[in-house]
Amino acid sequence: MLLETKSISNLHALFNGRVIAPGDGGYDRARTIFYGGIDRRPAAIVRVADAGDVSRVVTLARENGFELAVRSGGHSIAGHSVTEGGIILDLSNMRALHMDVEGRTAWAETGLTASEYTTAAGAYGVATGFGDTGSVGIGGLTLGGGVGFLVRKYGLTIDDLLAAEVVTADGQLLHTDAETHPDLFWAIRGGGGNFGVATRLQFRLHEVDRIVGGMLILPATPDVIASFIAEAEAAPEELSTIANVMTAPPMPFLPVEAHGKLIVMALLVYAGETGAGERAIAPFRAVAPPIADMVRPMRYPEIYPPEEGEYHPLAAGRTMFVDHIDRSAAETILDHIQASTGSMAVAQLRVLGGAMARVPMDATAFAHRTSKIMVNVAALYERPEEKAVHEAWVTDFAAALRQGDGGAYVNFLGDEGEARVRTAYPGSTWERLTEIKRRYDPTNLFRLNQNIPPATS
Ligand SMILES: Cc1cc2nc3c(=O)[nH]c(=O)nc-3n(C[C@H](O)[C@H](O)[C@H](O)COP(=O)(O)OP(=O)(O)OC[C@H]3O[C@@H](n4cnc5c(N)ncnc54)[C@H](O)[C@@H]3O)c2cc1C
Repeated sequence: MLLETKSISNLHALFNGRVIAPGDGGYDRARTIFYGGIDRRPAAIVRVADAGDVSRVVTLARENGFELAVRSGGHSIAGHSVTEGGIILDLSNMRALHMDVEGRTAWAETGLTASEYTTAAGAYGVATGFGDTGSVGIGGLTLGGGVGFLVRKYGLTIDDLLAAEVVTADGQLLHTDAETHPDLFWAIRGGGGNFGVATRLQFRLHEVDRIVGGMLILPATPDVIASFIAEAEAAPEELSTIANVMTAPPMPFLPVEAHGKLIVMALLVYAGETGAGERAIAPFRAVAPPIADMVRPMRYPEIYPPEEGEYHPLAAGRTMFVDHIDRSAAETILDHIQASTGSMAVAQLRVLGGAMARVPMDATAFAHRTSKIMVNVAALYERPEEKAVHEAWVTDFAAALRQGDGGAYVNFLGDEGEARVRTAYPGSTWERLTEIKRRYDPTNLFRLNQNIPPATS
């Protein structure tokens, strides 16, 4: 159903926050999300001011049959945070953060980004782990799981989630935690935006002040890649790594002769004492003479550098888990990277384990606790007409790397269909989620997401 102009003028009076409609200043900007190539025109964007606004948008959408898109940081890889003809519930103005530093907890509104939260908490030498990119919203990232620089030391972001406030499909604002609506609390820790709109999240804060971290760039050969991964697996849990195998872009901190060459661009974070951090990082520096070494003692928030404001790449991607990256898998990676015709091609390797793996498989809706390594392959490209070529490349690349683990991390899925969503929720997780969905969202109002439909009986 489309909203008529008459009803849009009535909308302004309904909300404390701002309503942005076609023709209004800022409309195009407000419907733009991180990834490019998605050109949908919502009937209205409601930039909610408080939980009451959230409840009113949910009720309006439910009662009038509007497609509802929920947006926090706008980094949905599948483009789920913008709708054609429906309403966007935009939480980006809800950014309050209340920290109890002594009690080591924080209540955060979901419009905050990872870097905003991390910078504010960092002023007190504390942190909660989010992902690798500061501009990603804590809303979408947390509800899908959250895999970042502290994953081996403290687990997923959801492992630090203590409670949440959620507006469910009937418009009610519910508090949920391990004791209150425990089924809902289980489901939102990995089940994404299927169960309602999270307005506030309560996190545990850890003492993370100075770290040893930053970027280490090595030449990429099969031996270097395999050795890097072996070191990452053997490293103490304080150390989490993200290794991007790619062709070197012409970045200012790289020598000109490295441009266009195959590199491992790795991000490392050692969350612990500086001397021990330097010792943990030494084996990575010894894998091959670094092309660039920017790993140093720093304050944790510095791991999120400033980002370009208007960067909206076109991208094709696939996510998967693998059990090992040996020399042969590394060769497969290099062959595919070299064969890509994209403006940039990358295989991102994240060694998991540590605290993340100690949480029981059924404790949350994220069931990939024993998965060893997460791999994301992606090609960036310039023109929409090239899409089919790069989609075929990522499909082929992922098939060539596939090993025993058939799972996928929901937050890195694109718009890939129901079968792929199910791989994010293996075993009994799927049935349990569909039952909880039936209880909290029987008509599937929250369906513009990696959708878990309500159980039918
Ligand atoms: C450049 C980039 C880097 C990334 N790095 C990482 C990483 O290191 N680790 C990692 O785990 N993930 C990472 N991701 C994936 C990221 O976690 C997901 O894309 C996530 O959904 C983004 O959250 P958002 O709030 O920014 O997105 P949005 O587009 O605002 O939201 C995405 C979806 O989440 C749901 N949602 C969002 N907010 C709410 C809410 N408050 N209540 C209910 N539902 C909500 C909705 O279904 C929405 O469609 C990355 C993504 C990108 C683009």
